[in-house]
Amino acid sequence: MKDPDCVFCKIVAGEIPSAKLYEDEDVLAFLDINPVNKGHTLIIPKVHSENYLEMDEKVTEKCSKIIRKIAKSIMDGIRCDGFNITMNNYPAAGQVVMHSHFHVIPRFEGDGLKHWPQGKYSDDEDMEDSRKSIEERMDLLK
Ligand code: 5GP
Ligand code: ZN
Repeated sequence: MKDPDCVFCKIVAGEIPSAKLYEDEDVLAFLDINPVNKGHTLIIPKVHSENYLEMDEKVTEKCSKIIRKIAKSIMDGIRCDGFNITMNNYPAAGQVVMHSHFHVIPRFEGDGLKHWPQGKYSDDEDMEDSRKSIEERMDLLK
């Protein structure tokens, strides 16, 4: 349940204040304290899990509905031109707070944020190698 060292568990428990936007028995949404743009919102499962793969499936579905609601409200309320829905999983992907969370980030035309750089496969075989290694695992998960 609660990880005593986890900052988001402390927010769920009310031990650290947060600017709450939504709360039910499973999910909490609040403003990110250091927003990429104003209105940047975090959506988290209340029960501690470290990342997407550890999240309860039902709660993941619930989060998805709330993300949609938050994104619509951000578009109208912040009057932005677009938004990013992101989730950093594991430190290698930029995760800093090790309690699962989705970001909804308001975006504005010309806000200067760059997308990550895009790479290339060396050839069709290289691409097929990647496709196959993923597909094989998917078969195991059926
Ligand atoms: P990550 O890089 O782990 O995906 O993002 C963690 C996010 O949590 C960061 O954007 C950071 O600003 C936010 N954050 C960290 N500590 C707090 C806090 O105490 N309160 C709030 N509201 N956001 C926090
Ligand atoms: Zn936690």
